[in-house]
Amino acid sequence: MPQEIIIIGAGIIGLSSAYEFAKVGAKVTVLERGAAGMEASWAGGGILFPLLPWDYPEEVTSLAEAGAFRYREWSALLKESSGIDPEYSKCGMTVLPGTRSMEKASAWCTSHNVRFSVRASGELHLPDVAQVRNPRLLQALGKTLENMGVRIVEHCEVNAFLKNEGNISGLKVSGGSVLEAESYVVCAGAWSGEMLGWKDIFPVKGQMLLFDAKGLLDTILLKDDIYLIPRRDGLILAGSTLEHCGFDKSLTQGAHLHEKASEMLPELKGLSPVKHWAGLRPGSPANMPTISRHPDFENLYVNAGHFRYGVTMAPAAARILANIVFGKP
Ligand SMILES: Cc1cc2nc3c(=O)[nH]c(=O)nc-3n(C[C@H](O)[C@H](O)[C@H](O)COP(=O)(O)OP(=O)(O)OC[C@H]3O[C@@H](n4cnc5c(N)ncnc54)[C@H](O)[C@@H]3O)c2cc1C
Repeated sequence: MPQEIIIIGAGIIGLSSAYEFAKVGAKVTVLERGAAGMEASWAGGGILFPLLPWDYPEEVTSLAEAGAFRYREWSALLKESSGIDPEYSKCGMTVLPGTRSMEKASAWCTSHNVRFSVRASGELHLPDVAQVRNPRLLQALGKTLENMGVRIVEHCEVNAFLKNEGNISGLKVSGGSVLEAESYVVCAGAWSGEMLGWKDIFPVKGQMLLFDAKGLLDTILLKDDIYLIPRRDGLILAGSTLEHCGFDKSLTQGAHLHEKASEMLPELKGLSPVKHWAGLRPGSPANMPTISRHPDFENLYVNAGHFRYGVTMAPAAARILANIVFGKP
């Protein structure tokens, strides 16, 4: 069983992997190029459910389901350990009429034991869909890891793997030093493909708007790829775009998102967004992440490519990875 593990990337995937390793006594260091938890995991919406799950392969929805299932308990535990509330809440999700492939929804929900109702207006309501507030989740997890003895080293970029006969012998990091451990895990989000030389993990930009709109909404609204998420304090997030434009995070689609959001909730039309941001999802074909040992290096592992559902999948993906690393079924 490896005792010393270095994780590359302090997003939700790297931090939740660190949590699973530390829980069984491994000595864990997380290396982060910037500040911890400030890339895709910060930028996301925190919906703990796939959008239109009936359009995805079974592997994707079952991983998302396993992740979502753990959140209630995990959020309570993180809150207790860190004093920071990730604001888990079962706010439900309403899919608006006219959304593509709605005709598959009822049969999918029935066969997957997901509670739903179809309203007279044609809306599909899923009362058990939950959300977390990403920045708070990441802060709570970071503090919990600190309490567990995990080292999170910020502003430390991994520039190269040092290789030795089918093994990784060290990581060359910014400043020129070399860091060594028994095992290494790539959790570098959208940058994982570049780091590994793999084409099937790539950046997909998503832009979001934030409105201060107390009392307007108490459940998630979804129409095709656009959603509105109400937070506890009255803020509403409107997202998101799906853009294939490399590592560019420039803000360009504010007016388009505002228009789409106002079609779903007309009261938003007269409000100016209070914030606009973009994040880079770790895209992958069919939203299928890679959670495995690297095919060429015995002590190198990958947990990356969770695309649109990395927050939802994180606790389950981390547990699967830990089982692989520690040789458990
Ligand atoms: C707009 C938007 C909305 C979303 N909404 C949802 C949602 O509602 N529900 C959901 O489940 N998911 C959602 N997602 C997807 C989810 O956010 C991602 O799948 C998830 O955050 C990926 O986590 P990660 O840890 O792999 O990546 P990241 O959070 O990007 O973390 C990777 C980290 O690796 C670091 N790194 C990269 N290269 C190096 C290096 N060389 N050395 C050191 N560190 C490095 C980066 O700086 C970064 O901090 C959304 C994403 C976006 C952008």
